[in-house]
Amino acid sequence: MFKKIPFNGFLYPLAIVLFTLLAASMACAQVQRPKLVVGLMVDQMRYEYLYRFADRYGEDGFKRLLRDGFSCENTLINYIPSFTAVGHSSVYTGSVPSIHGISGNNFMLQSSGQSMYCTQDDDVEGVGIGANEKEGKQSPRNLLASTITDEVKLATNFRSKVIGISIKDRGGILPAGHFADAAYWFDSKSGNWISSTFYMQNLPQWVTKFNAQKLAEKYLKQDWNTLYPIDTYVNSIADDNRYEGKWPGEKTATFPHRTSELMKDVGLELIKTTPYGNALTLDMAKEAIKNEKLGQNQPGVPDFLCVSLSSTDYVGHRYSLTAVEIEDIYLRLDKDIATFLRYLDERVGKDNYTVFLTADHAASYNPLFYTDNKGNGGYLFTRQFKRELDKELQSKFGHSKIIRSVLNYQVHLNYDKIDSLQLDMDAIKKVITQYLKKQEGVAYVIDMETANPGDMFIPAPIREKIINGYNRKRSGAIQIIAEPQWYNGTPRSPGTSHGVWSAYDSHIPLVFMGWGVKPGLSNKEVHIVDIAPTLASLLHVMEPNGNIGKPIIEVLGQ
Ligand code: ZN
Ligand code: ZN
Repeated sequence: MFKKIPFNGFLYPLAIVLFTLLAASMACAQVQRPKLVVGLMVDQMRYEYLYRFADRYGEDGFKRLLRDGFSCENTLINYIPSFTAVGHSSVYTGSVPSIHGISGNNFMLQSSGQSMYCTQDDDVEGVGIGANEKEGKQSPRNLLASTITDEVKLATNFRSKVIGISIKDRGGILPAGHFADAAYWFDSKSGNWISSTFYMQNLPQWVTKFNAQKLAEKYLKQDWNTLYPIDTYVNSIADDNRYEGKWPGEKTATFPHRTSELMKDVGLELIKTTPYGNALTLDMAKEAIKNEKLGQNQPGVPDFLCVSLSSTDYVGHRYSLTAVEIEDIYLRLDKDIATFLRYLDERVGKDNYTVFLTADHAASYNPLFYTDNKGNGGYLFTRQFKRELDKELQSKFGHSKIIRSVLNYQVHLNYDKIDSLQLDMDAIKKVITQYLKKQEGVAYVIDMETANPGDMFIPAPIREKIINGYNRKRSGAIQIIAEPQWYNGTPRSPGTSHGVWSAYDSHIPLVFMGWGVKPGLSNKEVHIVDIAPTLASLLHVMEPNGNIGKPIIEVLGQ
């Protein structure tokens, strides 16, 4: 039996008080998340660059990240090959080529022999560029696993906004994932930022307006001289040396680089290989934050901006990492990052965003520089390997084109041909591996289709990288592992490269700063695949569906 409580006038104000308290407690139960997450990928940044040029870094760029953030000082790439598309995919999926499928910037579909560019998508059209130009026909379709950005989208029922921006198509597209609102990349023919019908039918008005400013041209008209007097660059070798590549029209690869003149021949493509490429990318990122109102979503709904700074990679490839050009681009990047962080402070609020800085891979010394200084090293001339192998296979088996290509330090076989002619696969592989094992600079050769990892006479950490990097449908059957300081290239070629397992290609910076991050530093070994699950923990969302990494709990103050 219940007694009916009389509902008198006294209880009404009490009900209102209770309701208000309930509403307030519901507001507190709102999931706590930053308003904006910003990923800064610095293409080809070696871990040591946080320190190598630090004597002239300001207080608000790299040093602010290290001071106010958490630095994972031993972050390694745990797969091969250490290339751009693979790095961007692995950071954002928490996974490796074996699972996420991006096994190179270019790879080969083993079943058909079709060559594939990582973000190539023939079913979409360019936006902001002629519909059928291949620069625009790009999407993340070849990426087989979800990204942390995809998971944020799913967790908020697609209310989060996700945008990717990079001069390189792959640097913007792969991090932003499959559910992105947009990815933008730079078309050097027009000097415009473009996208594809995967994301949209037309460029937003703000992008068209931004393009109309013709900033690439304006930057290049300023020429590229050093930020400080050139004789004060003590962390690089003399500017005039034989390890740097010239532009057509340059007598020497030395400062000042007259970009205002060079652009007449080279075109706007030139901006990629100057610090202005990074500046332009951050200009575009700021414009996206402002016009897309990133960081102004509903409470508990974080937006995500993926920025990749590509010019450090282009400059490294051309001038090598001992160059004044590298020292200068990092001094300038330090200033650009400081300005960008200040912009985030003002627009989104100092305590409202989380930023992380990392790299897709690092880079090697130029082999000629290394041997000139009495170190060991050299160039694996893989094009010559292929020519000589073609000859040998022709003479032994009576047929040409048994090898489709030597790509990503892998030999790709022509299965159609071998099958239809009923050639002896084992005998072919034996010829190839025996030839490769004899070559100078080759440490190991592995037949990935028959290898029993337990039987490989290869140190366990390298073995793990080989296995993680091998995608059965997209990687070549025979894997070449170079000796330290040997890389693929023509003899004496200037500049640098990357792609192998060694620390010089695979030790990257990783610094988190801002909302939810406890300042500090750790020397514990962590891996590139740990970045996405760390973000997943920070944001209280599921880790990506191919994730094999573990959250770095020290970053989260645990
Ligand atoms: Zn790269
Ligand atoms: Zn590169």
